[in-house]
Amino acid sequence: MSSSNLPSHASPTFAAQPNSSTPAIDSEISLASSRAAPPSLHNRIDDIRLNAALSGSEASSRTATPSVPPSLLSPSFTPPQTPGGSLNSAELLQQAQATAHSKPPRLLSCLPDVECIVRARIPTTNGAEMFLHLYRNDTDNKEHLAIVFGNTIRSRSLDQVRPGETEMDRMIRGAYTGKLHPGRVSSWYDDVGAEGEVGGQNRTTSADGPVSGVPEVTQNNPNQAPLVRIHSECYTGETAWSARCDCGEQLDEAARLMSLPMETLTEVASQQNLPVPSNASGGVIIYLRQEGRGIGLGEKLKAYNLQDLGSDTVEANLLLRHPADARSYGLATAMLVDLGLGVDANSHGIRLLTNNPDKVRAIEGANREVVVKERVAMVPLAWRTGGKMGITSSEVEGYLRTKISKMGHMIQ
Ligand SMILES: [Zn+2]
Repeated sequence: MSSSNLPSHASPTFAAQPNSSTPAIDSEISLASSRAAPPSLHNRIDDIRLNAALSGSEASSRTATPSVPPSLLSPSFTPPQTPGGSLNSAELLQQAQATAHSKPPRLLSCLPDVECIVRARIPTTNGAEMFLHLYRNDTDNKEHLAIVFGNTIRSRSLDQVRPGETEMDRMIRGAYTGKLHPGRVSSWYDDVGAEGEVGGQNRTTSADGPVSGVPEVTQNNPNQAPLVRIHSECYTGETAWSARCDCGEQLDEAARLMSLPMETLTEVASQQNLPVPSNASGGVIIYLRQEGRGIGLGEKLKAYNLQDLGSDTVEANLLLRHPADARSYGLATAMLVDLGLGVDANSHGIRLLTNNPDKVRAIEGANREVVVKERVAMVPLAWRTGGKMGITSSEVEGYLRTKISKMGHMIQ
């Protein structure tokens, strides 16, 4: 497939940001108009709620949402008792909203156990290098990932010495400092290159002993907190070129911000009149394998069909008997702590790249294991550039509008 047919986020190179300040104005207009757009939606939902409250049977005849074929409903769903035996989607939606919508983010009182199994250096198509960390945990059987930019952030569970392992074992699972090269024999010291520059200085033990020191994450630049993005897997948006959502673009943008040289970031920020989202202290994308806001790919595809039948993203999930957002972030918090970005090892906190204020609390954890020092907004590329770049489709506009009107997202 020719790359020119793909959306911009699928391109192997990260596009440069525009120079002028006009896109910011465009995005405000776009934001304003999308805030103005939802009234019909709200009216419709109010209407549905009112109808359902007045009379169940009456509501079924006046519902604005198309009824749902039983085959589209998730197996866990028990059809309500309805006169005539057909599903009353208005009641269903109302019930589901009453339970799912008022829920605060799920905070685990105790963080899950996570362990980094392996890490590898990945040179990327834009020239930057990152370290991909693969995690195992005691909560689900998925392999969650941490994409780490910069040389200062290290996983404690990875660096820990395992009983009986050889230096070669350590290097194979990525528990080494500096760089690998043919002939290297020690995981602790790279006798050829810039050896031990990362983990070496705080280590007080030999290869046989436990790792007693965790490198100070922000030691080079104490005024900077690392950039962090929590990203949930989206097969359709990241791999299958979907323009129904902006997940691919957001992932690319997060990686771009974390891998840009400091000077470039400052320049871009001054051109756009934005604060500098500094990556001087490195960056981490926590990539959680919770497809479709946690409902899985199969259910997400059903939700897409419901959207084509007239529902928005939130309504579609509720009609399928899923909460509007089934994700939980305890794993992300635990992985950040393992990477030395928790309060126990990092007094500077983190800067969280997100438009979702709920995510800030969720990531910090029940006991504030991680401190979010600043929330850095991610404005969709299409809004920033007045539609010249980024994803433009009626689907993605509706998706973003729903995020703002119904899920409390603040874009800007
Ligand atoms: Zn997506």
